[in-house]
Amino acid sequence: MNIASHMVRAGRSFKDRPAIMKGTSLLQTYGGVSDRVSRLASALVSRFYLKAGDRVALSLSNCPEYLELLYGCWHAGLVPVPINAKLHKSEFSYILENSEATLCFASPKLMDVIDSLKGGALQSVVEVPGDDYQQMLAFDPLPLVARAPEEPAWLFYTSGTTGQPKGAVLSHRNLLAMSLCYFADVDQQAPWRAILHAAPMSHGSGLYGLAHVMQAGCHIIPESGGFDVTEIYQLIEATPGLVFFAAPTMVKRLLDHPADTDTTNLKTIIYGGGPMYVEDCLAGLERFGPKLAQLYGQGESPMTITALSAAIHADKEHPRWLKRLSSVGIAQSAVEVRIASDDGAWLPEGEVGEVLVRGETVMTGYWRNRQASAETLHDGWLHTGDFGVLDQEGFLTLKDRSKDLIISGGTNIYPREVEEVLVKHPKISEISVIGRPDREWGETVVAYVVPKEDSLIDPASLEKFCIANMARFKRPKHYRFVESLPKNNYGKVLKKTLRELEKSAKE
Ligand code: AMP
Repeated sequence: MNIASHMVRAGRSFKDRPAIMKGTSLLQTYGGVSDRVSRLASALVSRFYLKAGDRVALSLSNCPEYLELLYGCWHAGLVPVPINAKLHKSEFSYILENSEATLCFASPKLMDVIDSLKGGALQSVVEVPGDDYQQMLAFDPLPLVARAPEEPAWLFYTSGTTGQPKGAVLSHRNLLAMSLCYFADVDQQAPWRAILHAAPMSHGSGLYGLAHVMQAGCHIIPESGGFDVTEIYQLIEATPGLVFFAAPTMVKRLLDHPADTDTTNLKTIIYGGGPMYVEDCLAGLERFGPKLAQLYGQGESPMTITALSAAIHADKEHPRWLKRLSSVGIAQSAVEVRIASDDGAWLPEGEVGEVLVRGETVMTGYWRNRQASAETLHDGWLHTGDFGVLDQEGFLTLKDRSKDLIISGGTNIYPREVEEVLVKHPKISEISVIGRPDREWGETVVAYVVPKEDSLIDPASLEKFCIANMARFKRPKHYRFVESLPKNNYGKVLKKTLRELEKSAKE
């Protein structure tokens, strides 16, 4: 089953439906885009001599051509390698070499960087949009190339917060199961009219684009090409039935913006990819109504480990509503989730251990990296490296990754718990908590605090706030006030960078 068959079907059965918009301007219908897909596929095969299974890199910021390029590759039986456009040259170089992509499509801004990397595996670079690209669209349409479900469809390079990125090999079956889970578990109610690609299409937003092709929904690319809060609100106002995927930091930025826009048109904001604090979740529900859904996934089981649906977010009367909001929800339909101890034994409900996942969305392995594949996948279970606990009703609450856990005086302190409390402080905008090596305690708790605009915070007031709201031993010993927190290109806070920074800080 080739995942591109959904595009062929949409082009045939829903040919007049809007498929791609830039801001509020319609660029392509499904009839138009599916035709372009089959022509691009044809050019990939006849002009670049690519064969089924070959990799094609996409070094693109969000653009109207992104979707047709993904489907063009699949249509021809090729394997796209979407790369985040904000990466460093050395990261582009690594991913291009590692994936052995011979062809790369690049945004105009990235042309110089990508062109300079030609020589090794990479032979050709095509600018998007550009004259060469336009010529590709003049090729005669190619019929859909058949693919077996287990064949690779997307090389998903992990964000590399720990060492070099690894290419999770996602098959056509994985992507199909992920798309079905979208409707079964995440965003359950029709109609799904349009998805706004506000987050990188090389990652979560692009992955969720597939479900919207399945339903022949419209794909909106912001004019700004990125996450511009004012534009997002304008697009919400202009587009009925709008859905988008956002990292929690993006949701926070939307909430920090004045509430002067009508958001009736908004259908769902799907957040995930990092922890959302309950405080921010409540503020989101207050601002947008019951239109939030959460997913927990990782490149190795894309967008699909657990989900907290909009319906659960909306169920305020439930006695454990708040508790549920602090969880990442229940296992999605295509997977099983378990918790295991260090030695691999299953742990009962209520005990913290590593989150393991098995099912239709779990990658087939890492690209040409047997050792990493064997360390991560055994007996069919994906070892996520995340720590969490399941409750009696199957809700999973994530604890911090083992390397982020603070052990002070022999007791485990989960930074997330401390952060959840402090983020409620009226003068705090953002917070991240790490451990600092300490001779007496092993580690002590340090909080990096971004104060709200124009706020001066007295550490003594934070100390008082902590004493009133958390166990004494968990409270930070030091506060570092900073203008912003270090984050990677997906908006994830880099605790490793904070720990480095902390090494040079005085007590
Ligand atoms: P990536 O493979 O780059 O998408 O990163 C996946 C990691 O992000 C997961 O292993 C988790 O550590 C984290 N993550 C993803 N979704 C959530 C979520 N909803 N809440 C907390 N952390 C999350």
